[in-house]
Amino acid sequence: MSEKVYTRNVEALKSGTVIDHIPAGQGLRILRLFKLAEYGERVTVGLNLSSRHMGSKDLIKVENVALTPAQANELALFAPRGSVSVIEDFAVVRKQKLTLPETVEGIFACPNSNCVSHVEPVSSHFAVRATANDTKMKCKYCEKVFSKDIVVDVR
Ligand SMILES: [Zn+2]
Repeated sequence: MSEKVYTRNVEALKSGTVIDHIPAGQGLRILRLFKLAEYGERVTVGLNLSSRHMGSKDLIKVENVALTPAQANELALFAPRGSVSVIEDFAVVRKQKLTLPETVEGIFACPNSNCVSHVEPVSSHFAVRATANDTKMKCKYCEKVFSKDIVVDVR
């Protein structure tokens, strides 16, 4: 797909961030966990859009907010093949393929209910490591290692 075609697809966005190639069903979760609606800017969410490569996908556009590369990579926990485009003046100024972050802070609670992070005034902090068939997250405070799916399901 050429850059030109892509820009046309996001023509409604003058400036902001487009998160694309989110697996269908994860869009609302990303919106909530990463508090994308709390910037007070206009957010457009597409659910179950058709995708040549993925069958169906979700897509999120946030106006006037440019996610940093580090913020974008935190999304990779939900959208391992996602992409984040930052738009200025209708042009894509940065397009990033997501890669797993080394650490994730302040987003997920530790699944270990005895973990000190639940009683101390600290941000949660996990080291992220991909294994052959899973992604592991290790809590900095209790040093327990969890499967990513266990951590991200904790409310
Ligand atoms: Zn912990």
